[in-house]
Amino acid sequence: MEYLSEFIALGIDSIIFGICLKQHFYCNRSINAVKGAEFYEVNNNLINIVEQNKDNKIKYVAIRGAVQSIDTPIYGIHNKVITGVIHKLTLKEHLVVRTSSGYWSDQEHTMQEVYNCVPFVIKRGKHEIEVTNSLAAEVLDLETISDIFEASAPSFVDYVWGFFTGHRQRGLQTTEEMLKEGSIITVIGELTKSSSNHNSLVLQPPGDGTSYYLTTMSISSLLRKLDDQRKVYKWLCLIFGTIGLFIAGILVRRYLKDKEKQKLANELRKSLEQSRKERRQRIRETNLSRDQLCVICMTNPQEIILLPCGHVCLCIDCSMNYTSTCPICRETVTQTNPVFFP
Ligand SMILES: [Zn+2]
Ligand SMILES: [Zn+2]
Repeated sequence: MEYLSEFIALGIDSIIFGICLKQHFYCNRSINAVKGAEFYEVNNNLINIVEQNKDNKIKYVAIRGAVQSIDTPIYGIHNKVITGVIHKLTLKEHLVVRTSSGYWSDQEHTMQEVYNCVPFVIKRGKHEIEVTNSLAAEVLDLETISDIFEASAPSFVDYVWGFFTGHRQRGLQTTEEMLKEGSIITVIGELTKSSSNHNSLVLQPPGDGTSYYLTTMSISSLLRKLDDQRKVYKWLCLIFGTIGLFIAGILVRRYLKDKEKQKLANELRKSLEQSRKERRQRIRETNLSRDQLCVICMTNPQEIILLPCGHVCLCIDCSMNYTSTCPICRETVTQTNPVFFP
């Protein structure tokens, strides 16, 4: 297909541009939503405010409080004193790998990432609000509580094996992150009455798909972070938009050039046809005999020699459509040439 590479490049560019544009609008929407969210501390007045709203629900609020688990908290693996409600354990393998250029370089890859969470509330004084579906949060700020690197002790055989295979394990890194009990967080989401207990409130991801946040940052820091993301997507949109326009420009230019070429070729063909017609007219006036006419159309004079057999039996028009075998001797035609009789 013509212009295939340009179309593929334009297609890939458009997809990336589309994703960046979507993310940019998403950031914009998130920023406006967070700016529009009302801010509350956990207090006993909140339940009255919720009851005044339609469906006993406030669509988007920001509430700050201290984290506490409802039942048993999660204990740190390496430090049992630390308790929390969301625990993330990451296991990474560190490798020394031979690159394609022959050098050895350090690389790491995540082998496992496990989340664990227990039901929890955010509270202030004796008032509390349950936080549900915390892992659905767009921003989930966890604190690193342990980060341990265990270097592997390779034997001589491992060294030799590593030399031939091109990679050798350097060690394993285990990282523990946690949302600790007692940390002050701001939850931004939907506030509603609990379905099981009508005197308690629940924070959950908004039903309309707006982002849900569990963050230790202040609202202004969160807004700054979102704004930074928006700026990155804006720049990516500009870059990929410009590349897209550039490729489209090349495509249009090539198309116009090809069209111009085709037009010139058509004009040339027409003028050749015209001159052929005039020549035939002149020859016809001399009254051609039957065996001087093209054997196919029986109208135009014979003007093409078929090679290698050498028969002169076709006009130019018919030779263009009939060039595989000679109509007289059936020999395969490899070449045609115009002939001129004085
Ligand atoms: Zn003919
Ligand atoms: Zn022939």
